[in-house]
Amino acid sequence: MEIENRKSKIEIRGALFLDRDGTLIIDKVYLADPAGVELIPGAADGLRRAQALGYLLFLFTNQSGIGRGLHTLEDTLRVNARMEELLGLGSPLFTAVGIAPEAPGQPVEYRKPSPRFILEQMKQHNLEPEQCWMVGDSAVDVGAALAADINVAVVRTGKVDPATIPEIAANFIPVYPSFAEFAATLS
Ligand SMILES: [Mg+2]
Repeated sequence: MEIENRKSKIEIRGALFLDRDGTLIIDKVYLADPAGVELIPGAADGLRRAQALGYLLFLFTNQSGIGRGLHTLEDTLRVNARMEELLGLGSPLFTAVGIAPEAPGQPVEYRKPSPRFILEQMKQHNLEPEQCWMVGDSAVDVGAALAADINVAVVRTGKVDPATIPEIAANFIPVYPSFAEFAATLS
């Protein structure tokens, strides 16, 4: 688990916990090469809008490729750095970055749907659940949000059809075409 904490000078309206693959960048599955990073259209505009409104931005990504031995934590850090570079919103962009390296079946520390990263960051930054959103493309993002008892939104830019995630219908979770459309709803 890699957590980097950043200080912020803006007045805090809330926080967005953002999945990476399928939400901010195209899900290439076990992406290890920074040259493969492709932003999902609108991601930078959406993040800029959220930032301007006073939302802290957290990146929260499962990277089981590390636990599976397919790539290293350093690869993931390079991919994240390339994403920040392409977003062009300055660096560091995220208040904290949570990278869960566990493979399925390995003891879970932070791997979504564990809400641990969210809960720790909420405590550290004095955030209330109603101020916080998890935005992602998969069932584990929904699960982490529900376990942390924060708001959740699902985007259609991932590999999974949101209609196949039963928690979405059961919990009336909003689904957006992309992160940009979600960010446009923030106030
Ligand atoms: Mg994802």
